[in-house]
Amino acid sequence: MFDLKNKSVFVTGSSRGIGAGTAKILAKLGCRVAVSYTSNEASAHKVISELEGTGHIAVQLNVCDPQSVTEAFKKVIDSFSGLDALVNNAGITKDQLLLRMSDDDFDQVIQTNLKGTYLCSKAVLKTMMKARHGSIINITSVIGQMGNAGQANYAASKAGIEAFSKSMAKEMGSRGIRVNCIAPGFIATDMTDELDEKQKEAILRETPLNRLGSVEDIAYAVAFLISDHSSYMTGQTLSVNGGLYM
Ligand code: NAP
Repeated sequence: MFDLKNKSVFVTGSSRGIGAGTAKILAKLGCRVAVSYTSNEASAHKVISELEGTGHIAVQLNVCDPQSVTEAFKKVIDSFSGLDALVNNAGITKDQLLLRMSDDDFDQVIQTNLKGTYLCSKAVLKTMMKARHGSIINITSVIGQMGNAGQANYAASKAGIEAFSKSMAKEMGSRGIRVNCIAPGFIATDMTDELDEKQKEAILRETPLNRLGSVEDIAYAVAFLISDHSSYMTGQTLSVNGGLYM
């Protein structure tokens, strides 16, 4: 489908969910993948054991901790002798109506989703600039586009990533680095397992394609944005949401 042979990719937050699913599809298409975990190393090795091909590595990473980011990227860039693509996928939710939201829950979501994307992107820029090529893909959300009651912190973090990505795309275009976002709708992972049946029914009613997305739906969009088939795209957001928001 896409020729991603020998491309090296770091997918943050790939011990489960969309990150793990993306790692699997990218490996199938020929990439060497760095899989990250926060504390459960075994979960990353389990993902790697299911990847096609060889040369994949597991790396410990807490995107909120600048020291951890520096160490993880050094390990990945040294192991792969460079990096063709970065997928900023690690993310969390801490949902609560605004009146009841704690300052700490607001800060943690911004720190992980938005600042984590900033730290990881910065950690790879010099390497990509030297190579005069690279693709950075930031996983945002339909919630950052349309807002959602109970997710003001999450929506702000994801909308922030989109604006951050456009700015980075403008700064980096002349250096051969493309920066794009993917905004998933509701995808079946641990994150959406927290929704109750009533919430899921309400989402499906509003989704023309009438199903939750799969991790593969997002993974193939990532593969496209890494591939040369998207070589004239930068600063864009691909919405993969079953038509939930148009
Ligand atoms: P998930 O199943 O909850 O997995 C989250 C991943 O992020 C895990 O691998 C987790 O690592 C990692 N992570 C969390 N905090 C981290 C930190 N501080 N440093 C490094 N890694 C960290 O979530 P998901 O549904 O796959 O979501 C992945 C991305 O897609 C997120 O950015 C999310 O906002 C976005 N998204 C998801 C949906 C959806 O419906 N699922 C919709 C739109 C957007 P551990 O396993 O080690 O905790």
